[in-house]
Amino acid sequence: MEILSDVQKIIEETALEYPICEYCFGDTKQISFSDKVWFICKTDCERYGHSWACPPYCGDIQEKINNSKKYEHFFLFSTVTEVENAWDAKACLKVKSAHEEITRKIQTDLKEKLADFYVLSTGCTTCEQCACPEKPCRHPEQRLSSMESHGIVILQLVSEMGLCYSFGNNTVVYFSMILFDKKERR
Ligand code: SF4
Repeated sequence: MEILSDVQKIIEETALEYPICEYCFGDTKQISFSDKVWFICKTDCERYGHSWACPPYCGDIQEKINNSKKYEHFFLFSTVTEVENAWDAKACLKVKSAHEEITRKIQTDLKEKLADFYVLSTGCTTCEQCACPEKPCRHPEQRLSSMESHGIVILQLVSEMGLCYSFGNNTVVYFSMILFDKKERR
C-alpha cells in the first residue's frame, strides 16, 4: 500500500469532508492527453462554443496540456447521485451543478492549505447562462475548466485507474481532478 505524502493526506482529508464517492491518486504521466478530445466536444457536447470553461474559447489546447503536465500528480474523485431518470437533462444539470459546488468548496479549502494546485472539473455551471462568447466571463475566479478542455481523455483514465463511471441506470456520476506536486505545502 502506498504511503501518502503530507500533501496527499491534506487533499484526501479535505475531499473526504464532502460527499465524494470514489477517489484515487496517480502520476500525471499516467494521463492520456490528446488534442483530439476537442473533436468529441465539438460533435457531442452542447457546451462547445458556449462556455468560457470549455473548447474552443477556453484557450489554446497545447498550452492547457502543458499547464497540466507541469504538475507531477493528480487526485481524481467522483460524486454519484441517484436520479429518477438519468435521461432527464434538467435533472442531470442540477446534479452537475451540485458536483461543481462540491469541487469549488474543496478548492476553496485547499487554498488555505496548499501553495499551488490546479483544479479541473466537468465545466463551469456558476451562471445559469454562460456569458460566452458575447461577453467576458462574469466570475473568472470561480470558473472551473473542464478536463476535456485540457485534452484529458477522462473515461479512459477513469477506467485505467479502476474507478467506476456507472452505478446503474438511475445514477449520474461526475468526476473532478486536482493536479498538484507533493512538496507544495503552505
Ligand atoms: S462563471 Fe459564468 S460566465 Fe464564467 S465560465 Fe462560468 S458560467 Fe460562464
